[in-house]
Amino acid sequence: MTDQHPIEEQLDLYALGALEGEERRQVELHLATCADCTRTLAEVRGVLASLVLSAEQKAPAARVKQQLLQRIQEEAAPAIAVKPGAALPHRPAGSWWIRLWAPAAVALAAIAIVFWVSNRRLASEVETLRQNQLVQQAELDRVRAISELAMAPDTVSVSLASAAAGFPGHGRVLYNERRGALVYAGSVPPLASGKAYELWVVPQVGNPIPAGLLNVNPSGAGSDILPRIPAGVAFKAFAITLEPAGGVPAPTGPFVQSGA
Ligand SMILES: [Zn+2]
Repeated sequence: MTDQHPIEEQLDLYALGALEGEERRQVELHLATCADCTRTLAEVRGVLASLVLSAEQKAPAARVKQQLLQRIQEEAAPAIAVKPGAALPHRPAGSWWIRLWAPAAVALAAIAIVFWVSNRRLASEVETLRQNQLVQQAELDRVRAISELAMAPDTVSVSLASAAAGFPGHGRVLYNERRGALVYAGSVPPLASGKAYELWVVPQVGNPIPAGLLNVNPSGAGSDILPRIPAGVAFKAFAITLEPAGGVPAPTGPFVQSGA
């Protein structure tokens, strides 16, 4: 039994001192041997402590506490009505139930706070997982598309060489005319801010077709792009030019690399 981790709710209740009897004993026995749960308990206590410290300033926790206390007072009120004309008891009316109910009210308020915190924590964990999954899925899709392109029998490989002394570097384009798919990998000089390297498909007939902007890492190495370009374009050459950030529909800047 004790080698089973308590559920988070039990740790929350334990941290609040609201766990009793056998359940409390089991959690204590487990905590004595489980570093993970001890760490979780410390986290829960940290959250509780920060809540208590900020309870006066922050709206939801204080409001929850206040509403709970108010509801309990309303529900308990009829039971302590003093008969008209009856002698006032030694203590002010209601003091007995306040003493009776106050600890329960505090415990309820604390539990409400814990659930509120747990919900918020869960919501943010779910959101983080969802974001991670989206990023991983996008990366997976990209890798799959590149490997499909690289393995297609009708994909051609074209080397690109530096086109001007000011732009050392070289690269390679994999191009599949039938799919309208293309990927560049290579090295380029680091980019000045406000600038971008734009890749072009130079067709056998007509004007250069923009094929996207290179992703340039700080060292300029290992850039690649996987743009969406029209299918069925017979290429004459590929070229990279230096353009304003965001790219342009037709080349305006100096040639950085080219190959045919
Ligand atoms: Zn455990």
